[in-house]
Order: sequence, then C-alpha cells, then structure tokens
Amino acid sequence: MSYPNTQLLIHGRWQDAADGRTLPVLNPATGGEIGSVAHAGKVDLAQAVESVQKGFETWRDMTAAERSKIMRRAALHMRERVGDIAKQLTQEQGKPLAEATGETLAAADIIDWFAEEGFRIYGRLVPSRTSHAVRQMVIKDPVGPVAAFTPWNFPINQIVRKVAPALAAGCSVIVKAPEETPAAPAALIRAFQDAGLPPGVLNLVYGDPSEISSYLIAHPAIRKITFTGSTPVGKQLAAMAGQHMKRVSMELGGHAPVIVCEDADVELAVKCAGAAKFRNAGQVCISPTRFLVHERVRNDFAQALAALAKSLKVGDGLAQGTQMGPLANPRRTVAMEALTRDAVVKGAKVLHGGERMAGAGNFWQPTVLDEVPLDAMIFNDEPFGPVAAIRGFRTLDEAIQESNRLPYGLAGYAFTRSLKNADLLTRRVEVGMLWINMPAMPSAEMPFGGVKDSGYGSEGGMEALECYLNPRAVAISNV
Ligand code: NAD
Repeated sequence: MSYPNTQLLIHGRWQDAADGRTLPVLNPATGGEIGSVAHAGKVDLAQAVESVQKGFETWRDMTAAERSKIMRRAALHMRERVGDIAKQLTQEQGKPLAEATGETLAAADIIDWFAEEGFRIYGRLVPSRTSHAVRQMVIKDPVGPVAAFTPWNFPINQIVRKVAPALAAGCSVIVKAPEETPAAPAALIRAFQDAGLPPGVLNLVYGDPSEISSYLIAHPAIRKITFTGSTPVGKQLAAMAGQHMKRVSMELGGHAPVIVCEDADVELAVKCAGAAKFRNAGQVCISPTRFLVHERVRNDFAQALAALAKSLKVGDGLAQGTQMGPLANPRRTVAMEALTRDAVVKGAKVLHGGERMAGAGNFWQPTVLDEVPLDAMIFNDEPFGPVAAIRGFRTLDEAIQESNRLPYGLAGYAFTRSLKNADLLTRRVEVGMLWINMPAMPSAEMPFGGVKDSGYGSEGGMEALECYLNPRAVAISNV
C-alpha cells in the first residue's frame, strides 16, 4: 500500500526542511517504517511566520462569500479523495478503515458548516445614551494569524476543528501537526490549497513540538494560540501565551464519567458506552473512562461490557472486519500495562483482556476491569486506551460527587429513565459536554470543549467562531 512522504507547506509551496532533516513515520500495526516527515528548523519557522502574516492581509480582506466558496471546494475535495486519505490515516495512526473514512467525511461536514457560518459574523448597533447623532457599533474582526498545535489521535479532525472556524473568521493559520501521523493532515491542507486558498493563509509544519511552540507563541506576529493535547502540556503553553498576552483556546484531557443509574436501560448503556470505549482503541479525549454503575445493576452491566470486549475483532485497521486497531504508539501500550497492573495490585478484577497481544505492532486487548478502587491510577489519570474501569455506587449523590472529584471536566455520560435524575445530572455534573441515554454526538454546530483542567474555548458551534474574533467598539458622531 503506497504511503507518501510528507513535506512542509510554506507560502503555498510544498518543501523539505531547509536543512533537509526528516523524521521516520511508523505503522503502529506492524512497527515498520512507512515513510518520513520533514522536520522544520528555525529558518523554516521564520518563513512560515512571514508567510502567515502576508496570508492574513489577503484573507481578512476577502468577503465571507469568497471565503465560503473556497472552503466549500475544500470540503468537496475531502469527499472526492476519501478513499486515499482514509488509507493513509489508517496506516499511520492504526484506527480501522471505517473510522478513518468517517473522520475524513466528518471533516468535510465541519468545513461546510463553518463556510456557511462565516456569513453570520454579525456585529450590532447599540443606541447611544447621549445623542441620536451618535451611532455606536460593535464590530467583530479576525484576531489575526493563529498557531495551531494538534495531536495524533484524530490527525484530521483535531486540525479541522481549529482551521475551519479560524478561516471562516478571516484568520490565517500555521498548523503544527503531529509528527507521528503527518500524511492525513497534509492531505487536509492540500484540499484547501487545491480549492484556491491564497498562499500563506494555511501553512503546515512539523518538527520538535516544544521548539516550535516556544518560537511561535513568543512571535509578535502570532495573535492566537490553539492547542489540543494533554493537560500538563496545555498548562505550559497557556502560561507561555499569557506571558505574551495571546488569545488562547485549550482542548485538553478528560476522564469521562459514565453514570449508570439503577433505573437505566442497561443494554442501551452497554451498547452506547461500550462502543465509544473501544473506538479508536480508547484514544479519544471524550472516551468514557470511569464507569460508575449502581450496585443493583453493576454485575449485569460489567458482564455485558466484558462480553462486548471479547467479541471485538482486533487487528490491522486495513484488514476487512477489524473493529479495533493497535494503539497509535508504543508509549500507550506501556501506559496500559502500568495502569492495568496497578489496578489489579490494588484489588480490581479483570473480566476480560489485561494483556499486550502477541506479535508485532502496539496491540492491547480490549480490557474490562471491575471493582476498581478509587486510589487506582486508572481512576485518577486519563487512561487514553482500551481499558474500561468499573466501580459501583449506591446513591446518585455519591456518583455525582465521584464524577466531580477529579480536576478534569470534558465529557460525561449518564443512563437513567428518570427525568428527575436527568435534570439533577444536567445541573450538577461538571463537564463541558454531557450525553444522557445516548452515545457521544459531537457535531460542527454544537460547542465542543471542557471546563476546569480540561481547558477553555470551544471547537464547535458559533462559540468556536468567537474564539477567532475580536469584538471592537466604534462610535461615529454626525454633528
Ligand atoms: P504529550 O503529552 O507529550 O503530547 C500530547 C500532544 O502534545 C502531542 O501531539 C505532542 O506533539 C504535543 N506536545 C507535547 N509537548 C508540546 C509542546 N511543548 N508544544 C507543543 N506541542 C506539544 O504525550 P503523548 O504521549 O503524545 O500523549 C499522552 C497524553 O496526551 C495522552 O495520554 C492523553 O492524555 C493526551 N492527549 C490528549 C489528546 C486529546 O485529544 N485531548 C490527544 C493526544 C494526547
């Protein structure tokens, strides 16, 4: 299967790093090297900043209609190219081809939605307190050139959730995409380039993440920082951005509670939360991770979840019928081993899995742990892998308290047939996104983001556009 080497895109030109440096790209299903990615140095970054500044001057002066037309063409290219892009994505990241196809097509939908929403960046007229001769206006301008840092778990989706609203708002962007999964991001950026995006509006770099973020965050030309990744790195970057007074959006880690009440439809809960748990081998920021199940239904739930885990076909994402692929990098298998061992030593029971799979690649068995104690690492640190940790509760207050115990606040799930419970959960569970009696359903039109240590700023809905706009007050007197 062919896999392309990835270059940098600077001012509309695909190029190698100035010093020719590259990094290898590995297939997580085999461990084998499949290609390379250019590693930008200071010379390349300086060019990218010069370019993104010029790109901004062009793009901010174009009309919403002109921008929308280009964005819609990019969405069309993503749909036309879905077959090739999805294969590259699976080869470098490991997820099953069906999931890679879904991610590519979802990107097209997100681009289309923001292409339309760009028409609705309204200001307002505010009556003057002193005179009718004074016309007061609130206008919204693009913040300026953006630096976007994105991770390897959704190589396309994590970029498009930043780039689509940024472009619709009139911003230009330097994307620092993940070195481990570079080809799918490059295909997304190429779709915009082929759609007629002027040079410099989107630039793409790879390299040493901390070198690139230190350079771009400090650079006066960059006006906005957006990052998706772990909470510790997010806090470092937000602190750096604060020193330089830059606008920031942070989409960070989570540790999503799944509250299964006594009156829940257990079958529905297993179907929804179970499928979500093993999607992308659990490497999802909104993945269900802390299963809190009422003691009356805990055993039924745990056994059914273990049966679901057992039934999954694990293998190379390109193979027919694969339902769960490998973990994206060897760091994750090491982490799964440590989390599972720690939980078992502290008293958890393994209902299914719990081991690395034999052979090449970063494969970990879909794992279900029951009776997990609260002090187990897996109930405190974001697992980011295919391990479900279950514990029981007796009262809803207890479950809500446990949901809110950690500093994370990204996604949450609950299953109940009671309106009263649903209302209480809606008001009390401290998360940015809550799904009750259903699987996660993120979309372009709904806000996407967290509270507490899971970050701030939204990557969906009108709220995402606001993250790339500066409101300004202008008053004109006609006397
Ligand atoms: P990591 O924390 O070092 O990296 C996470 C991401 O941040 C990577 O894309 C990396 O390139 C980037 N990064 C790291 N340091 C950076 C810096 N100084 N400047 C700019 N970018 C930087 O470790 P990892 O092993 O890649 O991932 C581990 C953890 O990160 C996971 O367990 C998970 O908790 C979290 N993560 C979250 C998401 C998400 O969707 N929120 C995605 C990927 C990883």
